[in-house]
Amino acid sequence: MADMCIFCKIANGEIPSNCLYEDELVKVILDLSPASKGHALIIPKRHAKDLFELDEETKAYVLQVASKVGAALKKTLNADGINIMQNNGEAAGQTVMHFHMHIIPRYKGDGLQLFPSGESTPEELKEIRDKVVAELN
Ligand code: 5GP
Ligand code: ZN
Repeated sequence: MADMCIFCKIANGEIPSNCLYEDELVKVILDLSPASKGHALIIPKRHAKDLFELDEETKAYVLQVASKVGAALKKTLNADGINIMQNNGEAAGQTVMHFHMHIIPRYKGDGLQLFPSGESTPEELKEIRDKVVAELN
């Protein structure tokens, strides 16, 4: 499966990309269809489908890289903010089934709506809380 994976091919250099940063664990590239100017992707070199398959070391490390690269994007592109996003599963908008983290520079008035507000009731929130807390304990 991994030998068919487009992000494995990008990570190992088989497919060219605009690389911003690379080390033994990750490659950071510019997104081909950016949501905003400077939209970048952190791609672990080892194949994992999503967050739930990712090893603990890489899981922790990608956030450090997001912070470092996010700061560089903010400074060099004069961005006003940065969204860090990560989709798991088709229902969540994941289209490439190799874990990746989005770094999306934001500009005042850019109009991007990544997190539209929804609605809930106190009863619904409590029911969800009780289920998840029971699972975590
Ligand atoms: P997802 O929707 O899976 O969270 O994000 C996949 C992202 O990968 C999308 O933003 C898409 O534009 C980007 N993408 C897909 N194929 C390629 C590619 O071949 N090269 C680059 N640089 N980005 C890609
Ligand atoms: Zn892969």
